[in-house]
Amino acid sequence: MHELAITQGILSVVLEAAEAARARRVLAIDLIVGALTGYVDDSIRFYFDLLSQGTPAEGAILRIRREPGQGHCQTCGATFQAEPPLCPTCPFCDSPQIQITGGARCFVERIEVDDEDEHTGSEGDPPGE
Ligand SMILES: [Zn+2]
Repeated sequence: MHELAITQGILSVVLEAAEAARARRVLAIDLIVGALTGYVDDSIRFYFDLLSQGTPAEGAILRIRREPGQGHCQTCGATFQAEPPLCPTCPFCDSPQIQITGGARCFVERIEVDDEDEHTGSEGDPPGE
């Protein structure tokens, strides 16, 4: 279920970026998925295929890279691997004062587009950002 919402978000980021680049088609997408997000690659792919139909991102290759989970203990200063199911305390000193420093995010790292269409540049569209 979570994957549907996240995939909608991914697709809108991708389509916005493709539009900004005046791309006709999106060829590939590099996606970072943190180990602690709980998102399942196959579900993201499934929803992506479904949602991208009829958009410039249809048929794009989805490359998913897993980011390992990492935690930092604010009591003893240890940095440790955090894998789900997440333990709410430090594995070294049992302190509950831990902070997740990696693996909790999911985002589009980059996209590859087909922009062979000639840029007219006459539409007066300011570049994004
Ligand atoms: Zn600790």
